[in-house]
Amino acid sequence: MNSYEENYINKRPQSLCKMCGKCCKVITNTKYTYQEILTMAEEGNEYAQDFAKIFEPYPSVEAAREVDAEIVDNIINRLKDSNRYNEKTLTFYKCRYLLPNNMCSIYEERPKLCIYCPSSGWVVTPPGCGFEAWLFLKREEDMQKVRHAKEELLDLKIMKQKTNDEKLIKKIDSVEKTIHRTIEMFSEQGSKYW
Ligand code: SF4
Ligand code: SF4
Repeated sequence: MNSYEENYINKRPQSLCKMCGKCCKVITNTKYTYQEILTMAEEGNEYAQDFAKIFEPYPSVEAAREVDAEIVDNIINRLKDSNRYNEKTLTFYKCRYLLPNNMCSIYEERPKLCIYCPSSGWVVTPPGCGFEAWLFLKREEDMQKVRHAKEELLDLKIMKQKTNDEKLIKKIDSVEKTIHRTIEMFSEQGSKYW
């Protein structure tokens, strides 16, 4: 069975990529600090090892801004909007393998994190990225999924009030849990308000 990323990449229209190299030039990691990534890499985490191998940190946010101010400000604004902005830990990175003509010098051997990117509608892409409109549609699909889940949850709660049938209650419980998981999956993106 294919992984989530493999299924996603199969659906992604690769021709939308403009090969501008922006996603290799100025990027950030909103989940982990650089120190955390290095520690994870030492502990054997494959994603962290790949990340640390290809990306080197800019000495400062200003240095990254000199390369592409639009990308830096876009990321900072988004982090501020979602209350995740931390001036002290925010680090921008550039790839060691990007060539001056924006091509990848290790294309055939590039790590999975490059092959799969963008791997979700919620990945922050640089302004002007060819996938912007497609990712917007993917986000809409995710939001729709959560809205349907909430409607289903409401129906189940009503149904539960009317029956004492044990089998049905068990089934309702299991469906309820699945629906909650769907909503929870998108909680970082604000699914409780959708
Ligand atoms: S390894 Fe290649 S594809 Fe990956 S970030 Fe670097 S230049 Fe881009
Ligand atoms: S920023 Fe978008 S369009 Fe540009 S190379 Fe990366 S994925 Fe392709």
